Amino acid sequence: MGRPAPAVVAVDVGGTSIKAALIGERGDVLHRIDVPTPVGDGTPAVVAAIRSAAAEVAAPGLVAAGIVVPGVVDVVTGTARYSANIGWRDVPLGALLGEDLGVPVAVDHDVRSAGLAERTLGRAHGVADCLVLVIGTGIAGVIVSGGAHVRGATDLAGEIGHVPVYPDGEVCACGQRGCAEAYASAASIARRYRTLAGRELDAAGVVAARASDPVAAQVWGAATDALALAVVGYTMLLDPELIVLGGGLAEAGAALLEPVQAEVAARLTWRPPPAIEVSSLGSRAGQFGAALLAWRAAGRDCDGWPGGSGTCRS
Ligand SMILES: [Zn+2]
Repeated sequence: MGRPAPAVVAVDVGGTSIKAALIGERGDVLHRIDVPTPVGDGTPAVVAAIRSAAAEVAAPGLVAAGIVVPGVVDVVTGTARYSANIGWRDVPLGALLGEDLGVPVAVDHDVRSAGLAERTLGRAHGVADCLVLVIGTGIAGVIVSGGAHVRGATDLAGEIGHVPVYPDGEVCACGQRGCAEAYASAASIARRYRTLAGRELDAAGVVAARASDPVAAQVWGAATDALALAVVGYTMLLDPELIVLGGGLAEAGAALLEPVQAEVAARLTWRPPPAIEVSSLGSRAGQFGAALLAWRAAGRDCDGWPGGSGTCRS
């Protein structure tokens, strides 16, 4: 028996599920589990579920781990500072997982991590001016301008979900009115359908029903219009070459892409629209980003997977 091949644990913690995987040097997924996030049971239960999922996929050969979470993250100390969706404050995830697994642990923000994956492995690779828009429970983006990731003065750049697109629109969870997120996030699509139809249907259900159910068509149309308005605003400010639609909602594929492309093109009267594409990494982008961060923590900083064709600095 030779030595086990090196691998990393990558964990993406969302408000709905915890995705944990063991990922090899070429990005091969060696073991993967998804478990529900027990948000209703409180922070200790969520932390226990994360630790147990990470331990379950860990294997001999483990060299590092990466964990990405929503909300506010201190990447230096590896602390999950705050998340409205999960309800925790100041959880030292890096230290806890480091103790459990005995390897270095990188902790970062889920959307930033998805952006890293899209720029390293996905459609945004090598594109100097682009927006990676992650549409899931909420909506946030990673801004790349002139080849640089724009973080902003307080690390809050990219909150495009909270750009108001309808001045007198619905109240958003953030307290403002008419945010894109209040119409186009997966959570808002389900909420708006429930309010208008008096029945339960999740975002995927709304997409599937839109040809036969007028309320579903209305809710979906409002969602794609709100996204298009946000994209138009972004395009006017930053003139991107490419906009990548990612996150769980992007699994709708052409049902999402085509109306957004058409509405953006119709609104941009005097200039060509940017290319708009659906992510090739889907809702796994955040997890692949966590794996790339883990390889970095192991000293394998690569433009791609360390065992792949990318350039490594180790
Ligand atoms: Zn908002």
